[in-house]
Amino acid sequence: MGRTRSCRIALRAGVVGLVLVGLTATPAAAQEFTPGSPGLGDPYFPLAGNGGYDVGHYALDFSYDPSTRQLDGTATISATATQDLSRFDLDLRGFDIDSLSVNGAPAIFTRDGQELVITPAAGLLAGTSFTVVVGYQGVPSVVTDPDGSIEGWVPTDDGAFVVGEPQGSPAWYPANDNPRDKATYDFTITVPAGLTVMANGVLDSRTTVGDQTTFVWRAISPMAPYLATATLGRFDLTETTLAGGLPSYVAVDPTLAKGNVLRKLPDIVEFYSSIYGPYPFEAVGAIVDDAKEVGYSLETQTKPVFYRVPDEATLAHEISHMWFGDSVTLTEWPDIWLHEGFATWSEWIWSEHNGQKSAHHWFKTLYNTPAQDTAFWTPPPGDPGGPAFMFNGTIYNRGAMTLQALREKIGDTDFFELLAEWASQNRYGNVTTPEFIALAEKVSGQELNEFFDIWLYRPEKPTSW
Ligand SMILES: [Zn+2]
Repeated sequence: MGRTRSCRIALRAGVVGLVLVGLTATPAAAQEFTPGSPGLGDPYFPLAGNGGYDVGHYALDFSYDPSTRQLDGTATISATATQDLSRFDLDLRGFDIDSLSVNGAPAIFTRDGQELVITPAAGLLAGTSFTVVVGYQGVPSVVTDPDGSIEGWVPTDDGAFVVGEPQGSPAWYPANDNPRDKATYDFTITVPAGLTVMANGVLDSRTTVGDQTTFVWRAISPMAPYLATATLGRFDLTETTLAGGLPSYVAVDPTLAKGNVLRKLPDIVEFYSSIYGPYPFEAVGAIVDDAKEVGYSLETQTKPVFYRVPDEATLAHEISHMWFGDSVTLTEWPDIWLHEGFATWSEWIWSEHNGQKSAHHWFKTLYNTPAQDTAFWTPPPGDPGGPAFMFNGTIYNRGAMTLQALREKIGDTDFFELLAEWASQNRYGNVTTPEFIALAEKVSGQELNEFFDIWLYRPEKPTSW
């Protein structure tokens, strides 16, 4: 994303670039069926996600009426039990549940905060697949995060701006809301005719019957739940095909002056493909809405969503997240620099590639910030210190500086090999900072623990490394 959430990329300020901006089971059997845990223990969002199963696919089918803000839908979730499961949770904020079944049989459920606690009629054996169907309705919600920013389902004057990092997705669909549980998605979304729904993946069909239009989008690559979107409203949608047959969908709110920046999208995709490896997904594009109250853009998978017409650096930032953030995703949220530091450095290398300021120049400009400016240098990017600080400017700036310092330490050949290897080895996966350090040491043949300790973990300006 953009900060104060610029990717969350937000208001950019001058040189610095951004920021500101059970049941029981089978009675007779001796099997021990136990409940799945209510969370996965993330240090910042311990209740996000749930234990005991792994989702393979979400089929989200709903209607939404902006005039009443009512969402009425059915979520069909295909999952596999990872333990002998007596009971499990989904994450869902608000809504009335109309029906709930597991493998076709009605299931008992209760609500506890963001947990939808489901007890199937029979225990689920480890390793077996099962299907949960949730019928739900209500007004989807806006979620306020620890840093005061908003996410989830944010109503706009003509529809909704839909962003879920880090915890907004359960505001509009039942999910195993943890970046570790990636899945494929289908979206079948019905809105009043004249509106356009922009979800992830490829547009399969759009059908108008009477005064309602149904959009079907298919996202066939693994996706973390927080990267889903269903941003809707009035949009001018341009569908094209980029090099290699990649479908591109660029949607712009017709009330905004489109400008020329979006025309750079194909070149940006081509450039990052040349240094990071093949573009990871089945589609690309951009969703440009008027959502100033949100104040940041987000790298929703296959098509980032922008709260206003982006500048070139922001467009490049969000597109680079397709490799670093969306395809290669953190395991736990304190490692957010693995997304934002990489995307900020990607802005710099795009600038350098175009003969504008080099990444070294960006680094030097920021490095001139005095050590006494603790708001610039802390918290250290590898340890934000809590969920209220995960989109702090240092995560972006010092994160990007860490990469540029590494580049200058190990040289371009090893550095670019490292980035391409990181993207390729971890495609569609989840990663940690120690894994990145280990790969950097392997590729460069250098011992880098102290280097990364200084750059990522010490709460002060690095002075020698
Ligand atoms: Zn970002």
